[in-house]
Amino acid sequence: MLTALLHAARQKHATDAVDFPDLPEGVGGLPRLTTEPCLGEACGRCVNVCPTGAIQLSGDPENPDVSLDRGLCVTCGACIAGCPTQTIVADPSTKSAVIHREELVLYSKPTETKPIAALDGVKALGPFRRSVDVRVVSTGCNATDLEVAATANAIFDCSRFGIHFVASPRFADVLLVTGPVGRAMQKPLVSCFEAMADPRVVIAVGTCAISGGVHRGGYADANGVMPHLEVHAFVPGCPPHPWSIVHGILIATRSKATNANHSPQHGRG
Ligand code: SF4
Ligand code: SF4
Repeated sequence: MLTALLHAARQKHATDAVDFPDLPEGVGGLPRLTTEPCLGEACGRCVNVCPTGAIQLSGDPENPDVSLDRGLCVTCGACIAGCPTQTIVADPSTKSAVIHREELVLYSKPTETKPIAALDGVKALGPFRRSVDVRVVSTGCNATDLEVAATANAIFDCSRFGIHFVASPRFADVLLVTGPVGRAMQKPLVSCFEAMADPRVVIAVGTCAISGGVHRGGYADANGVMPHLEVHAFVPGCPPHPWSIVHGILIATRSKATNANHSPQHGRG
């Protein structure tokens, strides 16, 4: 709290002056891959420490291609701390949301690197124009819920982007889902989506909502949103930064992908 107040006092206004600023130095973010050669089988530390199996080595055992799935990453930082070659480093960018699930998988070999979706490339306003109403369904992640709530505070002020949170799915354009979607929340989640009118989009916010994270494959059948609903944007992180959540809402609602999928029709009551 004190840091936030000092930050606001220094820049003489509460709201962040720059949209989607990089994380400050020393603040841990998602991992990213560089082109620095990996030691391969001689090392293997990242694969061994990753709690969710997000990192894979393939190809030449002495100089492998490293792949890193941000949709499985719980941002523990162990791979960044342990990598002796800086093949894995921290990514300070807050523009981390993507439209397609496969964009969350990064590769160390330059020719296979998939670009991260940037808001700069999203020109179309889509069917929602400049204003969207968001219904949040938390299936069990207090950390991500706190970051979602933070997007509406004076620092991030998501309402200046036309983003508003609503209580009823009848008035919502966006279904924003947090948590791993365990068995008890699967039907309520789908019911909430069915109560929304077209056009509507679904955003999986946080690693648990994307893949189940550490809960994946467990007894609660908690493998994220994708087994239950089509997802239009993915915001990785455990939890994601508020700027990344705003990024996800904007790319989902201003993307051509928004126009895909919207039937059956539901009226707003
Ligand atoms: S930061 Fe992500 S990819 Fe790296 S070890 Fe932790 S969970 Fe795995
Ligand atoms: S920790 Fe770094 S050097 Fe070691 S296997 Fe992983 S990417 Fe390669």
